[in-house]
Formats: sequence, structure tokens, C-alpha cells
Amino acid sequence: MKSNQPDWVRLHKAIAVEAERGFNNIQGKHHQFHEFLYISLNELLKQIPTESQHRCQQMVDAFGNYSEKTLQERENLLDDTRRFLLQMERQINNRSKVEEITAKSQTPPASIPTNSQLKTQPIVDKSPNAASSLEQPLAKVVGPRNADRLAKLGLYTVYDLLYYYPRDHIDYARQVAIRDLVPGETVTLVAKVKRCNCFSSPRNKKLTILNLTLTDNTGTLKISRFFAGPRFSNAGWQNKQKYNYPPGTIIAASGLVKSNKYGITLDNPELEVLDQAGGQIDSMKIGRVVPVYPLSEGVGADLVRKAVLSVLPTTSQLQDSLPQGLLDLYQLIGVQDAIQNIHFPPDRDCLAAARRRLVFDEFFYLQLGLLQQRQSQKKATTSAVLAPTGKLIQQFDEILPFEFTNAQQRVIKEILIDLQSSEPMNRLVQGDVGAGKTVLAVVAMLAAIQAGYQAALMAPTEVLAEQHYRKLVSWFNLMHLSVELLTGSTKAAKRRQIHKQLETGELPVLVGTHALIQDTVKFHRLGLVVIDEQHRFGVQQRARLQQKGESPHVLTMTATPIPRTLALTLHGDLDVSQLDELPPGRQPIQTTILMGKQRQEAYDLMRREIVQGRQVYVVLPLVEESEKLDVRSAVEEHQKLQTKIFPEFQIGLLHGRLSSAEKDEAISQFRDQKTQILVSTTVVEVGVDVPNATVMLIENAERFGLSQLHQLRGRVGRGEHKSFCLLMAGSSTPEAKERLQVLEQSQDGFFIAEMDMQLRGPGQVLGTRQSGLPDFVLASLVEDREVLELARDAAQKVIEKDDSLNRWPLMKQELNRRFERMLGGSILT
Ligand code: ADP
Ligand code: MG
Repeated sequence: MKSNQPDWVRLHKAIAVEAERGFNNIQGKHHQFHEFLYISLNELLKQIPTESQHRCQQMVDAFGNYSEKTLQERENLLDDTRRFLLQMERQINNRSKVEEITAKSQTPPASIPTNSQLKTQPIVDKSPNAASSLEQPLAKVVGPRNADRLAKLGLYTVYDLLYYYPRDHIDYARQVAIRDLVPGETVTLVAKVKRCNCFSSPRNKKLTILNLTLTDNTGTLKISRFFAGPRFSNAGWQNKQKYNYPPGTIIAASGLVKSNKYGITLDNPELEVLDQAGGQIDSMKIGRVVPVYPLSEGVGADLVRKAVLSVLPTTSQLQDSLPQGLLDLYQLIGVQDAIQNIHFPPDRDCLAAARRRLVFDEFFYLQLGLLQQRQSQKKATTSAVLAPTGKLIQQFDEILPFEFTNAQQRVIKEILIDLQSSEPMNRLVQGDVGAGKTVLAVVAMLAAIQAGYQAALMAPTEVLAEQHYRKLVSWFNLMHLSVELLTGSTKAAKRRQIHKQLETGELPVLVGTHALIQDTVKFHRLGLVVIDEQHRFGVQQRARLQQKGESPHVLTMTATPIPRTLALTLHGDLDVSQLDELPPGRQPIQTTILMGKQRQEAYDLMRREIVQGRQVYVVLPLVEESEKLDVRSAVEEHQKLQTKIFPEFQIGLLHGRLSSAEKDEAISQFRDQKTQILVSTTVVEVGVDVPNATVMLIENAERFGLSQLHQLRGRVGRGEHKSFCLLMAGSSTPEAKERLQVLEQSQDGFFIAEMDMQLRGPGQVLGTRQSGLPDFVLASLVEDREVLELARDAAQKVIEKDDSLNRWPLMKQELNRRFERMLGGSILT
């Protein structure tokens, strides 16, 4: 019976990962997320009671057109599906119990456990053997109702719960006398009850207040606890409290010390009655370091704490995936202690040791996975071994109106050496905005074409792909090479023609967006893949383009400047080239922070520049999490500037809701100087290149990250004219100003990124979701750099010894479990 059941855990995991990754329809090894669900639910349809089949069919259909749904619709669908799966799982399990029992003993169905009987199970089974194995579903441990709640957090098995790390801890372990209380500290004190009172708030009948006056031999303290809801407002409950804390009782109180107008107190403390001072403190919270878990609606803190406590004994079954020698070398504690103590540590030091070990694991397995990938790439061979020099590259050099910078020459050399090897290139070029990365890509493509191969260039937006295409056309025409553009809005007839020319090999170069990775796109001899602004693509998308050739060379480019240690971590599978020099003659972009009152100055400068023949961008931030509202604010701003401020100029408008034809129109009008001002949402951020634009006005600049502002600023200062970046600060908090000042003072993308990372944290800076940056649960790329380096060192040692990992089966298993999840998607088969 069991064997016919769907793999529930895998289905839930897939849904959880899809949600974690922002409902982007993640790509698995064989299927995209929606395909996986479509297939799985179709299977399920055959096994469920008829009354549920209609709903199941609706879901199948909904996944059929998942890609046309909005993010909100996707989120709702996933919620429904999750609930539905839980319901079906329970029904099918009950049914199989029915069948088992009827098969065995012919017992009439009346004695079979039903749903309602299952619900009456104790909510938490406190016996230490409650959870018997790591793979056990939580329903068996905490009861089906609580298991449903935990499923909302993506927790299905005992194992999931053990690895559900707290986001923080409260330190109740510090016991303090009343006299020594210091506001801001979290403490526990032991004192005698002098007075107790419990009553409904005179101002709010639904609020119940418990007041206690406590003394120890150093002082007196009044504390209050608040209880909201009708449950507490009846006299019975309130009297019971007075009975619980009669004068003379010794209690322990734990919480945050606060100072208010009545003096010092504890903020809504946890209370526990002790028999006597110094008595056994055995509550889950009092007197310990207590875990605080990330929660979601309807899942209470105590539920998670109790559930974790009840599965904690199973840590003794955890096998350490790291060999003892490695633990000793890096002074790491064993996994059993680490998991125990990350949840309920006896003290701060134990917590720190636990955290260090688990952070190490996160970094270690990422590095290990990347290094292993790289190792296997090195073993692959490409047939596209290119000649060291070529006529085409020479021609291109002659066509270009400028000389390559030293940095460009150096990186070109690195690329050409890679291309002459049968080991496929896997190189990332990091270079600040405007450093001139595009020509590097062109040189690499020409080398491939010269040797009789095709090349593909993929960019993250249509605007950018179109721009690359125009540039390539202008150069390649002179060299009699053809190039085509393929995006989502390429017409069907053109698309067919491109497909055909690619397959015959007639077309040497294709530029485009994600459209390039569709299955219908087939190359004759793809020798080189270039991915621009690679941080905007997922790992899987890159891999899919790569698979269109036989181990082609891969060149990726990014303007997201990240510090070298981080680059090594995140791109452990790549060689990294730094393009650390701007083309000559670039003047620094004069950057000024302006407050609301100084708006007129901004408009004056804009007018002056336009009169001299220059052009201006006006960029509006994301106001809300709603594209619609952003579009409205862009439309309104455009209207205001056009009618009230600059009626004498032509003003264009660009935002995310325009069709791609309309976007192209807006950009080409600006490029051709038919419009002097372009009002835009952040869609101009990536790669737009109009050298005649000299002013960038950014509204509500404080809402942007520094690196993003730096990218935006890079849209000006691309030509010979002096350029300006005006940061309009909507709010004037000192922190906001301090942050923006970094931009006033520096033009160095690396420095800015570093500052941004210190001020906001790397997840925010790199945009975890887009960057392909894995979601670390515990680890912080800034705070845990020391552990990061150790982990990298360890991973290198391991790979050098045995890159197959066959020597360490547990490690190999752990790598599979973690690495794929970290990079997303591979859970689906
Ligand atoms: P990014 O690195 O941001 O992608 P681009 O490749 O778009 O930068 O180049 C920015 C501008 O600088 C383009 O107009 C390009 O033609 C120009 N450029 C590139 N290399 C040089 C150079 N060596 N000398 C002068 N201008 C250059
Ligand atoms: Mg670029």
C-alpha cells in the first residue's frame, strides 16, 4: 500500500523551496516546479476519494498554467495545495489502516481509528521516546493538528525540526538581585511575593492585568503581566492567579529589564513558582537560554519549543558527517551537541560553540559542492579549442574607436588562454559599471567564430539584450558577420527563421534574453556562452544554456562588485578576473545629496545641461511592493514634470508595465535625443548606455541600497561630458544621510559594496533571490568570515584528497542533501 503513495515529504519540500525562492518556478534536474506538481497531482488524482477529485483536478489545471500566474496567485495556490496534500495524506493513511486491519482480522469498520479519534491524542507527547527515528513524520510525535501547524513552517519530519534553528536566544541564565537590575539586560531574579492583584483593565475590558510586588533582601520591585482576550477576563481565572501567587511565595521571574515612569520593572516577564529560594528550576524557560524561533501566523512560540524539546532525544541518532580529524583540526564540536545546544544551550558559551559548528557546516558544504562541480568541469573536455590569434579579433581592434585599457588587455589575455585549452573555460569577469565588459565578450565571441563555432550572449532584460544586439550589429556588419536577436517578443516567423539558421550553423551569433534557453533553440556547434549580468540569473538557467553545446566555454560578467573572499565563496566553481580600471577620460560623477527644499537647484541644473544639448534621467524608487503603484507614481511624476516644470522639453516614460515594444520605443527616443528627459522606474538600472546623458536625478534615494544607487549612477558619465548624480533624500534621518554620503565620497564600486554590506548585510545587498546567493540559515557572510575561510580551507583539503568523496559516505550524503537545496530546485526530479 505504502509504495503506491506519493512521496509526501518530497512534495512538501518542493513547495517549501519554491516558496523560499520567491515563487519563481524553480528548475529541477528534469522538471520545472510546475511540471513536477502537475505530474504528481495527476498521479494522486487516481488514488484519492471521488469527492476530492474535482478539487485535485482544479489544482492540476492551475499548475498547468502556473507560469501565467502572478506571484500572489502562485502563493495562494501553493498554500491551497499544501493544505490539500496534508488532508489527502491523512485520508490515504487512514484508509490504508482500514485495509490493514480489515485484511488481518476482519474487524468491522466501526472500531477503526477515525479522524476525530486521532485528534484526541495528547498534543505533546512528553515521554522521551516520543520520537523514535529521525525520519518519523511529525504527526506521530506532536499529533496531527500540531503537525499541520508545523507544516506551515516547512517542517514535516523529526529531522526537519532538529534542523529548524532558532533565530535568536533570550538569556535567562543570568540571575540578578533586585538592586542590581540594569535596563536593557535580560535577567532572571528570585524573590518573595509581597502583594498580588489580578483584575480587568478599567480602560479596556478585554485586557487582564496581573500585578505582583516582589522583594528580596536588596529591594522591592513591581511587575505586571498582561493577558489579552475574554478567556482571562472572568473572575474565576483572575482569582486563580491570586491563589497561585499568595504572599510569601518564592517565585522566579525572567525577562527584559525596563525603566518606565514608575521606576525599574521587568517587561511582561515569565513567572514560575519555586518552593523555596534556590529551589529546583525546571521550567522550559526560567533560568536558561531560551530559543526564539522564526514563526508564522497560527504557529505559537511554545508549540515550536515544546515540539523541539520532544524530538531532542533523537539527536543521539545523528551521525556526524564530518570525520573526527577534521573536527579536531578546526576545533569544532560534534553534531549531536551542536544540535542540542543550538536549541537549548546550558549557557552562552555552549551556544556559541554550537553556532560555530553549524555555521561551519553551511559554508563547508557550499564550498565542497562548488569545488566538486569545478573538479568535474575540469575533467570535461570541449572540442572548441580555439586558435591563439585570429583575423577577426584584429579587424575588431581596428574598427574600435578606442584602445583597450590595460585591464581589458589583461583580461582578454586570460580569456584567450582559457579558450585555447580543451578544458572548458568557466570565467567570471567582475568589473565596475562602465568598465567596458561588453568588448571583452565580443573578443571571446570572435575567437569562437574564427574557429568555426557559434556563440550565444544572454542578458537579463529585453532592453539590455536589444542594446547589445545593436552594438554587435554595428561592429559585425563591418566584418560581414550576421547576428540575430531572440527575446520573448520576437515574432513567430522570425523566430522560426532564427531556429533554422542556428541549427544549420548559418547564424554564428545569437543575442537574447531567457528566450535562449527554451528547448526549441538548438545550435549546430555552440562553442561559447556569454552571460551578462550573471547575478540576475539562477544557477539552473545558466546551466541550461550551457547544455546547448557540448561543454562549451562559458564567460560570465557581473557589475556587482563583491569583496574577493566573498567572490571566492560564491563563485568557488569559477575563475575570477577583475576588470579594475575604467577607460581613460572618465571624470568622476559629481554626486550631491539634496533635501526637499533644494529641489529647485536640481531642476536648474537639469535645465542648464539640457540647454547645452545633454540629457537627463529621473529615477523613481520602488514605493510599494506593488508594481501597479510604482507605475502610477512614475506616470504622475512624468505628468508633473512635463506640464508644470519642463513644458519646453520632451519627456519620455519607462516602466515595467510597458510592453517591450513600448520600452524599446522609449529608450530609442531617448537614445536618438528625441526626448531630453527620461522618467523611469529602476528598469534603467541594468546596462542602459546613452553616453549623451549627464544628469541622473534619483528620487527618495534613501530607499535604495548603495550598490544599486552606484549602478544607477553608472548610467551617466559614459561620454566625454562632466556628469552629475543628484540624490533627493525624502527622509533626513542621520543614518540615511550617512549612508548616502558614502556615494558622495566614493566612486569605487567595491568600497561602496563593502560599506553597503556593513550597513545592510549581504543578503540585502546581493539580493539573495536574484543573485543565486544561497540562503544561509545561520551563517552571516560578514560576521562569520573567519569560519568561512576555515570552511573553504577544509573543503579544499577534502577535495584534494578524494574529490569523489567515496572515502566519506556520510559527508557525501550530507552534501547531496544540502547543496542541491541551497542552490535550489534539484529536489524535483
Ligand atoms: P559595462 O562594463 O558596464 O558593461 P560597457 O561595456 O557598456 O560597460 O562600456 C561602457 C562604455 O565604455 C561603452 O560606451 C563602451 O563603448 C566604452 N568603452 C569600453 N572600453 C573602452 C575603452 N577602452 N576606452 C574608451 N571607451 C571604452
Ligand atoms: Mg554591461
